[in-house]
Amino acid sequence: MSRGLLIVDVQNDFTEGGALAVTSGDDVARGVTRYLAEHAGEYAAVVASRDWHDGANDNGGHFAADEPDFVDTWPVHCVAGTEGASYDPLFDTSAVTHHVKKGQGVSAYSAFEGTTETGSTLSALLTDLGVDELDVVGLATDHCVRASALDAIRDRRTVRVLSDLVAGVAPEPSAAALAEIRAAGGTISASGAA
Ligand SMILES: [Zn+2]
Repeated sequence: MSRGLLIVDVQNDFTEGGALAVTSGDDVARGVTRYLAEHAGEYAAVVASRDWHDGANDNGGHFAADEPDFVDTWPVHCVAGTEGASYDPLFDTSAVTHHVKKGQGVSAYSAFEGTTETGSTLSALLTDLGVDELDVVGLATDHCVRASALDAIRDRRTVRVLSDLVAGVAPEPSAAALAEIRAAGGTISASGAA
């Protein structure tokens, strides 16, 4: 049995000053960096995902530049290759072993919808590495962290969300997301690094 860490979407557009900023996104970026400094060696894989949308289309209705509803449609964010799509510089990625990109032309909340730089799905990567326990951190609790954690549980991994290393768009949906993950069989616990 081995454990992996999934760091979801700690990107400039989701942290303070970004197109779709999450309050305390910078704190999460700093906390993840502190956590990795102490714990990266405990993981068989440290995977970081990025939302990585097309700039030339609305990505299957995911972008609504005029009137996004912030539920199913969003302001333009994380366009591939832009500053907004880059990892937040407060997040030290030196311990990341695998990078996953998702959302090319589609609305993809879960990192399990993405692929690694060699074209592998996240599920196949974790299986290849023997990772059956997955810790999940990052942004945003009520959207991409939620979808990624639930997919990891469906993918038969033992999932733990590190509650002090996530932040959400809105408080109530974020609390509901953690409750949903717990009800699905996941664990919510603090890392102590934030
Ligand atoms: Zn997106």
